[in-house]
Amino acid sequence: MTAPRYAAVVLPVPVTRSYIYEVPDSLAERVVPGARVVVPLQRRSVVGIVTELDVEHPPQGVTIKALSAAPDAEPAISPALLDLARWMSDYYGAPLGLALRAILPGPLWSVARPAGPAPAAERLLVLTGNGLESLIERERRFKRAPKRRAVYETVEALGGSAPVSHLVRQLKLSSSALDGLVKQGLARIERVPEVRDPFARLSSPPPPTLTDDQRRVVDGILASELHQAALVHGVTGSGKTLVYLAVLRSVVASGHGAILLVPEIALTPQTVARVRGVFGNQVAVLHSGLSDGERADAWRALQRGERLVAVGPRSAVFAPVQRLGAIVVDEEHEPSYKQGSAPRYHARDAAAVRARLEGARLILGSATPSLETLDLAAQGKIATFALPARVGARPLPPVEIVDLRSTPRVAEAGAIAWSEALDSGIAGALERGEQVILLLNRRGFATFVQCPACGNVPNCPNCAIALTVHQTPPAMRCHYCGYEKPISEICEVCGHATQRLRGLGTQQLEHFIGMRYPKARIARMDLDTTSSKWAHHHILERVARGEVDILLGTQMIAKGLDFPNVTVVGVVDADTGLHFPDFRAGERTFQLVAQVAGRAGRGPRGGRVFVQTRAPDHHAIRAAAAHSVSQFAAAELPLRSPPNPAYPPHIGLVRFVISTADHARTADLAEKVAAWLRRAATERLEGMLTVLGPAPCPLMRLKGKWRWHVLAKSTEPRALGRVVRAWRARAHRGGAVIVDRDPQSLL
Ligand code: ADP
Ligand code: ZN
Repeated sequence: MTAPRYAAVVLPVPVTRSYIYEVPDSLAERVVPGARVVVPLQRRSVVGIVTELDVEHPPQGVTIKALSAAPDAEPAISPALLDLARWMSDYYGAPLGLALRAILPGPLWSVARPAGPAPAAERLLVLTGNGLESLIERERRFKRAPKRRAVYETVEALGGSAPVSHLVRQLKLSSSALDGLVKQGLARIERVPEVRDPFARLSSPPPPTLTDDQRRVVDGILASELHQAALVHGVTGSGKTLVYLAVLRSVVASGHGAILLVPEIALTPQTVARVRGVFGNQVAVLHSGLSDGERADAWRALQRGERLVAVGPRSAVFAPVQRLGAIVVDEEHEPSYKQGSAPRYHARDAAAVRARLEGARLILGSATPSLETLDLAAQGKIATFALPARVGARPLPPVEIVDLRSTPRVAEAGAIAWSEALDSGIAGALERGEQVILLLNRRGFATFVQCPACGNVPNCPNCAIALTVHQTPPAMRCHYCGYEKPISEICEVCGHATQRLRGLGTQQLEHFIGMRYPKARIARMDLDTTSSKWAHHHILERVARGEVDILLGTQMIAKGLDFPNVTVVGVVDADTGLHFPDFRAGERTFQLVAQVAGRAGRGPRGGRVFVQTRAPDHHAIRAAAAHSVSQFAAAELPLRSPPNPAYPPHIGLVRFVISTADHARTADLAEKVAAWLRRAATERLEGMLTVLGPAPCPLMRLKGKWRWHVLAKSTEPRALGRVVRAWRARAHRGGAVIVDRDPQSLL
């Protein structure tokens, strides 16, 4: 009889240690590092990953249980992905189990096999009116039925139809108001089969031939060494997608697989169709709308090598693509590439590590690269390939900075800052049958309610933030925790009988432009109109078909959209994020304004951009107006280095956020974290570490918890690595402290 063998198994839980199990002979062949196994834990069965075999015989007196199953013929996690998990765990200071949980999709952690897509029938509320009535008619019709009006306008904003369950459950609209609309003949209810995956069959004709510029970049990338990371720095409309696809086609032709990462919001039918046009059904699209069953199927098809190319947002960086030859990270500057929970990885940086581990190419692309990437390029660690001009020699649109402090305004707009310049730009475009995009990065109707007598602003009781006023459905709502209550009509502090709405949100903007341009067909795109599955694609399809004259929305509309008939872009208020207490406030504003400006003038009719601001001389606004990344970087980089406080990319940053329900305890714990860091800095890291804080976070209360933070800075990545690993090794309970290396937000 041979001696029993033991395996170390890591479970997807926030503990640092692994668990030891005996390997039954019958499973020995399948139990290898990276394999999924089912193990008993207390009285449950859970899925874990084998990380090591033949571990030391466990100490006497500990009962070791046996693994109960090993479901896969091939290990679920390849050696390279297991190494990537170890890197994430070490770099971000997260338990290995959480790093593994990020790598393997949710359904594969379930002991049961995931179910396939549900073919359930769904009911849909469809508006029957043509939506072209005047506002006066509308006021009359809904005079005594504000709820019905709310339902009507919500469905209208969603493109004319919406699942009943979504309206009633998610948006909390009243079902009697829905019935009322049907009785009034303004809507009908239809039974339809569940909306199928809209990506399932999309394809477009083969791509056009590369321009000379594009060809030069493609050849340059393919001629460079495999380990040489590349940055495609191409202006908006320079055709970066075609460049990625040409590079990937050559990678796939040589027998390799590839990953194309795109921000979730840019994963549009248009993008998917273009990729399918090149790779047909070799592509697996890993979008967030997949059911568990579809996700598991896509994952298996990639693992078996039946599909070679994975396209998806952040987590697609872990797709089990075989013989990986290249990873492309499109819009590499996008903050959505950072995961918001442990292991808090940045998909671009994880992509770089994975590419190195598997000998694959790394290609980053953006019109507005992050300062971190520009810094690596300046150091020669990334090779830059520029696409300085738009396809077809189309000029970048001229940008007019409109100074709201002095510019003539449209009187009818009342309190809304509406310049004559923007107004006539829009009117002209509408007259010529062209389309308009308006950016306002603030959803809701008004930013807050204020009492004109005592100045009181109703705040969220759980978060240190003002409640936002919404009109459809009407309520004051917290954008962080979802708390809501009726809109104040009298002041809750002094009892004053009228309250003022302050600050413009997208709902109010929609209302206003509906009155200002009564003939225009308007669509609004923000979190409130896109919360149902595929809603955002439906809106974009209507724009693409020319059924929308004005598309307005939050930062969602700034990304990747390519509509040649858009000739006017207006940034209604460029300053919404400019004064956030975050060192990236300027960078984010620059990227947002430059990106949305890049949506104009993509067709033969050219385009114009109007940027309304009260900070016309701010370098972020000026550089965005000049479409110039180098101008922005030249002004911004000195602000992040001495004599100013140093910030990335000059240094690395780790943020410790301490949060508990009790304020004194939070402050006390933050004090302890800072003291621990300062001790580590002097005792073990000989001055390589600077500790800032503790201090209350700018967003000091969130979802009922108080928040403080401590920042650790260093020019030495290894010092930060040692700090996060030392912290990980301490025993923690309760999760009051989170560790965020390379944080994307300091709020
Ligand atoms: P970017 O991502 O750089 O802003 P896109 O990849 O969206 O640009 O391309 C902009 C537009 O130019 C798209 O409509 C695309 O189909 C078109 N395009 C790109 N390359 C070519 C080409 N070589 N010939 C013709 N049209 C092209
Ligand atoms: Zn709240």
